[in-house]
Amino acid sequence: MEKKFDQNYLLRTMQKLIETPSPVGYYSEINPLMEQLVNELGYTLKFDNRHTAYLTVPGKDASRTVCICSHLDTLGLMIRKIDSDGMIRVRSLGGINYHNIDGESVTVITRDGRRCTGLCVCQSHSTHVFDDARTLQRDEDTMMISLDAPIHSAEDVKKLGIRNGDYIYLEPHFQLTRNGYLKSRFLDDKAAIAVILTVVKFMKENCLKPACNILFSFPHYEEIGTGGTFVPPGVEQFISLDMAVIGPGYESSEEKVTICAKDVVTPYDRDLTNHLIDIAEKLELNYAVDVFYHYSTDAGAAIRGGNNVSVAAFGFGTFSSHGMERTHISSIQNTAGLLFGYLMEA
Ligand SMILES: [Zn+2]
Repeated sequence: MEKKFDQNYLLRTMQKLIETPSPVGYYSEINPLMEQLVNELGYTLKFDNRHTAYLTVPGKDASRTVCICSHLDTLGLMIRKIDSDGMIRVRSLGGINYHNIDGESVTVITRDGRRCTGLCVCQSHSTHVFDDARTLQRDEDTMMISLDAPIHSAEDVKKLGIRNGDYIYLEPHFQLTRNGYLKSRFLDDKAAIAVILTVVKFMKENCLKPACNILFSFPHYEEIGTGGTFVPPGVEQFISLDMAVIGPGYESSEEKVTICAKDVVTPYDRDLTNHLIDIAEKLELNYAVDVFYHYSTDAGAAIRGGNNVSVAAFGFGTFSSHGMERTHISSIQNTAGLLFGYLMEA
């Protein structure tokens, strides 16, 4: 991010967002936090019936509205079954890689808001005990939650108020290294939301109006592909601000902002994507253009939902995505730069 943006605010906000649980569809804690953050900037949030949060920033041309969408939901788990010995079996919310959460600390959140921590492990959890501790496939059928409590039966679990359908939140382990690397679960997509709030704060403090009305949209179901399926009437362009994939054959990196030309759902709108590339060139941002594979965004969902919008997507390069994720502050800076450039020209 160019130095003009408040980096301390950005990092503080990112950490708050990441450390507030919001697995797919669990909006009960993150929406109040968003309300507080947006109020602090002098705006108010609105919510629709799916609890999607909306922030409207009026622009110079009030006859046009474009939408910038970043999802509040993260990967998570839900209780499927409590075994007779009190071990908890789960189903995933979003594209969990079970190998990646073996040994992770988790928190069960009950329907009435009680919490109980636990350990997510493979049923063959110890090399001292199981011949296949190293080799057993980690998946929905072999992984389980062992609560941090004296549990010996399903009844012991139920006495804690825990039942099927309760949410399970994974510990994010937010960390900023001295040389500017951000390591955490759920950078996808809370780093993007922190970028949005930081750019809005900068514009507000400097009395800068975007080129047209901006509707920032924060849905709760991106990780299962339905976050952006509804777009409020009047929106012309719909841009997902989301993580970018890093891997062999991709130009994306932990330093760049990446403009997604195509993903598993759709090629993105040619003119709008060209416009983003032009802005990145003009602002001399470190950027890439890539085609993603096992990847989609709320903008793709908007298209599948039948909305009459042109779509695009861009975001920060994320190494080890949907696992313990990592990016560098320079990628976040380039992403903020492109967002700001777009808002001023939309
Ligand atoms: Zn995402």
